[in-house]
Amino acid sequence: MGMNSLIVVGAGYAGALAAHRAASRGLEVTLVNEGDALVDRIRLHEVIAGTRAPERARRSLASMPVRLIVGRADHVGDGVVRLSSGETVAADHLLLATGSTGGVGSWSWAQTHRRAVEALGAGASVRVLGAGLTGIETVTELAGSRSDLRLGLVDPRGVGADLSDPARDYLDAVLDRLRVEFCTALADRPADHIIDCTGFTTDTLARDSGLSVDDRGRILVGDDLRVPGHDRLWACGDAAAVEGQPFLRWACASAGPMGAHAADNIVRASHGRPTEPVNIGFVAKALSLGRRDGLLDWAGRDDTPKGHVWSGRKAAYAKELVCRFAVAAPLRWPRSYRWMKGPHD
Ligand SMILES: Cc1cc2nc3c(=O)[nH]c(=O)nc-3n(C[C@H](O)[C@H](O)[C@H](O)COP(=O)(O)OP(=O)(O)OC[C@H]3O[C@@H](n4cnc5c(N)ncnc54)[C@H](O)[C@@H]3O)c2cc1C
Repeated sequence: MGMNSLIVVGAGYAGALAAHRAASRGLEVTLVNEGDALVDRIRLHEVIAGTRAPERARRSLASMPVRLIVGRADHVGDGVVRLSSGETVAADHLLLATGSTGGVGSWSWAQTHRRAVEALGAGASVRVLGAGLTGIETVTELAGSRSDLRLGLVDPRGVGADLSDPARDYLDAVLDRLRVEFCTALADRPADHIIDCTGFTTDTLARDSGLSVDDRGRILVGDDLRVPGHDRLWACGDAAAVEGQPFLRWACASAGPMGAHAADNIVRASHGRPTEPVNIGFVAKALSLGRRDGLLDWAGRDDTPKGHVWSGRKAAYAKELVCRFAVAAPLRWPRSYRWMKGPHD
């Protein structure tokens, strides 16, 4: 490989966009991913509920102008990746975009629950643990496709703890209408099947490679997404904790912009130009509530709820557009991709 080469580990929304954007700006890119497809994770609750066929939640990476290596990276150093096959790959720069597929929200998590739900007969009970965004989307999607099941949602913090009051009021009414029973503890409420939506976990690669991580296993990076003390090592997406920007939550809404910004900074660095601090803002939290209902909880750029919501079909349509954009960006529009700037802009 020449002087302008890059290895990206992880082909989620962040890694796929970074790899494609960097390649379109002249870098020679190798993409290492556990599978040969981008898993459209924000559709996995649809897969569990049977409203989306599993193959429609996997997007082929074959058309990307990169060298794709399907395999697991089990150790990284400056510019070098060792695969579990024993092979090593080297490049001038290395970008870690290993995401948060350590358990909840992974492809195998969705397949396990899809098969279990499919096997349940009428009248069986399903409890969804965790009433954050993933749990709410999962239980409402199930209510739409399997009205024969008895559904429950469990969370000691209440429903949608990070949402605004009007958003929570709307959700209470929706859960009531869909006959989803909410409770704060699982005890004394046996269920035929339990779906854990209590939070994502990071891959162990960074920790196993001796990199500094936060208490959630995210790689600590400076505001230009470079790992401090390692000139050629970068991280983005759910795998990265950015210095001074705690509002960047685990979301494809931040993973995409971080991937694009990482690619731009690596291109700058490879041309000897100064890097720039990442600058990302939010607009809303967008939820699907089954196929015909949705909720947009509008937020400031720092993700603080404004207390204003969109709901119903209009919000369902807006959420559908968000989902389509999330996969179109890395696969079709990597070069022209733009994003909302942050609260300090
Ligand atoms: C049901 C559900 C609904 C969601 N809805 C929304 C939503 O509406 N809006 C929103 O903003 N976010 C949503 N999210 C969260 C969003 O999906 C994640 O935040 C996002 O996927 C993170 O993107 P990423 O590119 O950082 O990592 P990921 O998408 O996690 O991708 C990481 C990739 O790296 C690969 N990988 C990991 N370790 C290795 C290794 N050692 N070697 C090789 N490859 C490796 C993985 O296999 C994976 O392909 C949702 C998640 C779920 C599960």
